[in-house]
Amino acid sequence: MHNLPIWLAKYKESLSKEKLHHAYLLYGREGLGKENLITSISNAILCESSNLVSCNQCKNCTLISSNNHPDLHSIQLEEGKKNISISQILNLRNTIYESSFLGKNKVISISNIESMSRDASDSILKILEEPPKDTFFIMSSNFIHQIPATIRSRSIEIEIKTPTYNECHNWLSESYSENIELAIDLSDNRPLIARDLLDLNLVDLRSRFIKDISGIIKSGKNIVNISEQWSKELETLPLKIEWMSYILVDAIKHESANLNVQVLSDSENISRYLGENSDIYNLHELLNKTNEIWNLFSGDTNLRKEYQLQSLFIAWERGLGVSNL
Ligand SMILES: [Zn+2]
Repeated sequence: MHNLPIWLAKYKESLSKEKLHHAYLLYGREGLGKENLITSISNAILCESSNLVSCNQCKNCTLISSNNHPDLHSIQLEEGKKNISISQILNLRNTIYESSFLGKNKVISISNIESMSRDASDSILKILEEPPKDTFFIMSSNFIHQIPATIRSRSIEIEIKTPTYNECHNWLSESYSENIELAIDLSDNRPLIARDLLDLNLVDLRSRFIKDISGIIKSGKNIVNISEQWSKELETLPLKIEWMSYILVDAIKHESANLNVQVLSDSENISRYLGENSDIYNLHELLNKTNEIWNLFSGDTNLRKEYQLQSLFIAWERGLGVSNL
């Protein structure tokens, strides 16, 4: 993503280098490309150009492209850690009050600021209250409501909106030729997630998912095997639970509308069947339970996933199983 995709470029274009605020907070759903936008804005702030662009020729741009710019401080959740820690912020504080190495701007980029520990967050707030000269914070969050009001009030917030179907399609078409529509639908118009789905061999994954779910509904027989298998495939687990929710949402649409409804086509047989044969109260109750499990698996949980899955599948089998209808 060297050039910003069209749905992100407009946010950068709305900023002017002469009138930059010292802190920006980009927020929105996961998978919209906030990290790319952070990088693009940060690089442009450091470039010698008078506009907010990267010339790719000046000393700053050269240092950035070799990952070696001394005035660019990028803070992220370290691998295997739960939080952005206070020590990461203290390291930062030790350097940013000194003048910049190249005598110009300094940039601090922080992704997923909701994952800062309490101490780290307090420490960032102190810096934001008395920001060093010519220093710019570019931060992002998937969960804006988890960010302390004190930090939010010192930042300019920019909401990154979900792109249109066509914007997603055009962007994905540059790299992929098949299954783009399905990937966009399944990611709910989140291009980076759609891209990951296409890289994950989406069609195969999806057809195994549909086979597993039909099996659970038709005969509760394979519940133990399927929960064991799914809980081993951690990378795709939250996604599959999300797809379970989509089936229920589609079933609810079938239940409540006679006319043509927009539903995911490859699981339409299941969702139509469920919509026509189960009652809406039941579907909503299962949707709640499925979303609960999704929330649980999306955060970090010490609970044994296998048993959580089994209990979810059993609820599906009891509520929707063919023999019970
Ligand atoms: Zn430059």
